Amino acid sequence: MNPHYEFVAERAEHRCEYCRAPERVFNFPFEVEHIMPRALAGESELQNLALACRACNLRKSIRVAGFDDVTQAEIRLFNPRQDDWAANFQVELATGEVTGVTPIGRVTVKLLQMNAPAQLAARLQWIQWQSFP
Ligand SMILES: [Zn+2]
Repeated sequence: MNPHYEFVAERAEHRCEYCRAPERVFNFPFEVEHIMPRALAGESELQNLALACRACNLRKSIRVAGFDDVTQAEIRLFNPRQDDWAANFQVELATGEVTGVTPIGRVTVKLLQMNAPAQLAARLQWIQWQSFP
């Protein structure tokens, strides 16, 4: 396990810092991911680390930006260390859908496929269990 896991997980209140998945309903600890990927010279310092669920970490991979269809521009991804989640995303409790309300939010929802069928099904279950948002 990543040596920074305990600190990073506590700081994140045991939630994925991208999709807000609650770690406590999973049967395996979430992952410590590099906001600026190591492949792009991101360092393993606490300011560059975030807690991520498997789905978000896999889909984010070494990406740091994506194309926003609304602004027609390349926009950087959400950075949990500098951006406020609630200012960039909204949750529709009836459908479980997460919507990006800023260019950063939109690009992050799209690239991380936050509304993929498996994500929506799980999120609806968490909402029912009062574990989300
Ligand atoms: Zn996630």
